[in-house]
Amino acid sequence: MGGGHSHGGGRRKEVDTNKLYEALGVGKDASTADIKKAFRKQAMVHHPDKGGDEAKFKEISKAYEILSDPEKKAIYDEHGEEGLEGGGGGGSGMPADIFDLFMGGGGGRGGPRRRRKGDDVVFPLKLTLEQMYTGCTKKLRLTNNVVCVPCKGKGGKSVVQCKECKGQGIKLVIRQVGPGMIQQMQQQCSACQGQGSTVPAADKCKKCKGNRTNKEKQVLEVHVRPGAAHGQKMVFEKQADESPDMDSGDVVVVLQQVEHPVFRREGDNLFVKKTITLLEALTGFMFTLDHLDNRRLVIRSSPGEIIKPGDFKGLRDEGMPMAKNTYIKGQLYIEFDITFPPSGSISAKAKSELKAILPNPPAAAVAAEEEKARFGGAGVSGAGASSSSSSSSGPSAIDEGEDDEEGVTRPLSRTIEEVTMHDVDMNAERRRHQQERRGGGSATDVNGDDDDDDDDRRGGQQAGCQTQ
Ligand SMILES: [Zn+2]
Ligand SMILES: [Zn+2]
Repeated sequence: MGGGHSHGGGRRKEVDTNKLYEALGVGKDASTADIKKAFRKQAMVHHPDKGGDEAKFKEISKAYEILSDPEKKAIYDEHGEEGLEGGGGGGSGMPADIFDLFMGGGGGRGGPRRRRKGDDVVFPLKLTLEQMYTGCTKKLRLTNNVVCVPCKGKGGKSVVQCKECKGQGIKLVIRQVGPGMIQQMQQQCSACQGQGSTVPAADKCKKCKGNRTNKEKQVLEVHVRPGAAHGQKMVFEKQADESPDMDSGDVVVVLQQVEHPVFRREGDNLFVKKTITLLEALTGFMFTLDHLDNRRLVIRSSPGEIIKPGDFKGLRDEGMPMAKNTYIKGQLYIEFDITFPPSGSISAKAKSELKAILPNPPAAAVAAEEEKARFGGAGVSGAGASSSSSSSSGPSAIDEGEDDEEGVTRPLSRTIEEVTMHDVDMNAERRRHQQERRGGGSATDVNGDDDDDDDDRRGGQQAGCQTQ
């Protein structure tokens, strides 16, 4: 098959780097997919089982074997077939996946089954926020089906055509789908699981027992870059189960961040909640925060700064590393909460000292007191009660309301009522409301609308209401 050119000639003559392309009928710029396609087309025509010419089939098989292998293709493009002769492989015969095309071939009609891609395997990988901050390498252990080596995925020494489907791998099933209507459907052949062929018991491969694949443990190394995101996908192409009939699917690793006890992440930014005392809020504070990379940050307030509940402060470059450029980081936001001293814990003396130090009570409270003083006796209804209670309230509060708002006019018909607040544990209240609702329409279940976590219970509530 050396063709017309000289073999082993002393001089480096121009080598033939076209022949194999011509054999397959593709151009030199053909992609691997094109080459594959062309080979299949040619193989259909020239396969000896289908009455083709064996020599021609060998030629296209060889062409395909070389051109479908990027390494060999590069050598061939440069040095022709001669270049490959030393490297082995050339002309050894059939490409590995020839079996996929012609397992139990010879049936002739319908052509080979199209090569499908196997299912992707999605693997959630749990990571701590620390691991996402610094980056890490995780080993992922998988048990995969791998094409059996001794039998090359054939399943045994001999492969015979499936009698049930005559090698088609599918069967036509006729079903009646309606009166006078018949549907013809293709169904995978159950005798050969769609292979079109079976291996006689005596010839079955000892290693895979005719299954054509074996289970093997594999380890994938997942390199998580700093700043990796929750939900980020990392694709390991063709690392899922192997099959003689299919291209392997991908292993898709989906990163999942486990909740962190201190830090909350939003994109490239981090959030922490910090509770300080009222004293610290007023006079300044200093605290330490252990960061995700084990640095201890010392954080202090600016001189004179007063922190209010719900205030946020930001620290630049202390957020998450950005995936695009891990040297750039987001922000770290600190949300402040303030613990106030418990009721009754401030002595009368301390109070008067605080009054001397802190600014006056807010204008609204003063206005209310003032209003009460002005209209307390003039109310139309319930006036008696409110006037009596107003006199019982601490006179000091009224004394402090000195900065009158003179020009303000108010409707004279307004009723003034003194009311008393009680302590509420809102969580306990909600639980109680819920239980009452579950109990079946007690009197308090008027507004169940603000609760969205007991939808299934609401049906019961409605039932309760209907019975009333
Ligand atoms: Zn079959
Ligand atoms: Zn085997």
